[in-house]
Amino acid sequence: MKKLINAPVEVTSDMLAGIAAADRRFVVDFDHGVVLRADYVAHRDSGRVALISGGGSGHEPAHAGYVGQGMLTAAVAGEVFTSPSVDAVLAAIRLVTGAAGCLLIVKNYTGDRLNFGLAASIARSEGLSVGMVLVDDDVAIAAGKSRAGARGLAGTILVHKIAGAAAEAGVPLATLERELQTLIAGVGTMGVGLSACTVPAAGTPSFMLGDDEIEYGLGIHGEAGASREPIVAADEIARRLIDTIIDRKQITSGTQVVLLVNGLGGTPPAELALVAGSALAVCRDRGVVVARVLVGSFLTALEMAGCSMSLARVSDEHVARLDAPCEAPAWIAPSIPAEHVTSVAAPKGPTAAAECLGAKISDEHQSYLRAGIVRIGQALISAEPHLTELDSSVGDGDLGISLARGARTVLDALDTFDCAHPARALEQIAQVLRRSVGGTSGPLYAAFTLAVAVDLRSCTSSPTLADWAHAFACGCRAVSVLGGAGHGDRTMLDALLPASDALTRSAAAGVGQEQALREAVDAASAGTAETARLDPRFGRSSYVGDRAIGHVDPGAEAVTIWLQAARA
Ligand code: ADP
Ligand code: MG
Repeated sequence: MKKLINAPVEVTSDMLAGIAAADRRFVVDFDHGVVLRADYVAHRDSGRVALISGGGSGHEPAHAGYVGQGMLTAAVAGEVFTSPSVDAVLAAIRLVTGAAGCLLIVKNYTGDRLNFGLAASIARSEGLSVGMVLVDDDVAIAAGKSRAGARGLAGTILVHKIAGAAAEAGVPLATLERELQTLIAGVGTMGVGLSACTVPAAGTPSFMLGDDEIEYGLGIHGEAGASREPIVAADEIARRLIDTIIDRKQITSGTQVVLLVNGLGGTPPAELALVAGSALAVCRDRGVVVARVLVGSFLTALEMAGCSMSLARVSDEHVARLDAPCEAPAWIAPSIPAEHVTSVAAPKGPTAAAECLGAKISDEHQSYLRAGIVRIGQALISAEPHLTELDSSVGDGDLGISLARGARTVLDALDTFDCAHPARALEQIAQVLRRSVGGTSGPLYAAFTLAVAVDLRSCTSSPTLADWAHAFACGCRAVSVLGGAGHGDRTMLDALLPASDALTRSAAAGVGQEQALREAVDAASAGTAETARLDPRFGRSSYVGDRAIGHVDPGAEAVTIWLQAARA
């Protein structure tokens, strides 16, 4: 177990201390683990019903994150996955209950039901007015199969919000309790787990899942689910979850619902956004009208990967209550889904290189140029694993993939390129690289190629070796200007600059093209080897510092590879 904690037994109290320290809207009764709105006394005297929820910890941001104006008045936090005690709930009731009374919103687990239930009875015997609703939105287990009844899951958050807005609007306790019971009957939730989670006090995961296994219908306490199956595409998982909820809750076509996609703690927002799209598509297929959508990690199970989906049958009044302003820090305002996904296209820029369009190189030179582009592209594609390995040692491992993607895109488009003049061909390559290669090398290669092309525009016939050498130097300068690096900074320039110098020297000495290229490759290769001894100062290698020493710079290696391929 590896967690950011001080000691397993102190996790909950340390967490509450952190919450209260970071946000002055909260105060805490540390003896009982109760988080309250800082203005709870004023609220108690305001004539509004107070709302209390809570349960075991480990579901953050629930429940403390939902404390605030327009949502909960207090949250009772038990130990991780353990219901708070009767006395803790009673303390919360005594703290917040005024003349209007208080309502306990309890997730249906035996422990929670008993502790909250007994606390409510005791408080009533003390003369306080206390109501209670049980949320039992889990649809994983078919109705009637468990005597304990369905569990309370992420749908509870919707109940908190709708209750909070109603209480804020002055709805009295008895009415509120009745309204919420109707709402709860129409809420269904089903989850899927991709990994287990580890309770700090236990130190080992609650269950194990194979690499390709997922667990359907699990709760939020690290318990295993209703069935374990091989992982399938997200669309299929979403379909299964939504279909089950629709069927078990008998949601008919045309019904208005709210969709809540809830991360279980270890699922990145990107995956949640992706499955939200899938879930909306299923709702559309089934004719269910989604009035609002919520996507986020609302009720988690520590670091468990996976998500749950909830559908709540809602009236227009419920929707208005969900939209009502709310100060609770973990509440995210619901969004209205798009009827159709709108995709927009940016305007295209002018096509450049008009100047050299008139000039033409010979057919022989054109096919020589195309053959060179093909060789370079193929070399970069073959070098993908090698460059990936190098960039994994000193960077983030994407260079091989980036350059191979660029090469493939160029090769795919090559037939459509106008190669009547090298400047024209290179400008088209620069455009393709700009579009297809990301990272750092994308813009640098695009700048290099474009600068070479621009310099070659002035050639009215096939460029000579001197023209190429001059253009190559312009390309290097563009890389240096854009990226800010120079000789010895352990970048691709440590291969480019020596190669450029070699070309310039060869052109001045009047040697043949073949020999000039060979010397340029040798210079690039020597420059690349030298990078293994250099301190990284640019790019991601600079983050690994000394650990890069002993490895050559992947960008420089890539230059050597394509220069080598440029030789016939
Ligand atoms: P990243 O993944 O860091 O965005 P790439 O993997 O696309 O970058 O490219 C990494 C290579 O880019 C490095 O090996 C280095 O040769 C080159 N590079 C990084 N920064 C610069 C810079 N400022 N100037 C020139 N080349 C650079
Ligand atoms: Mg990289």
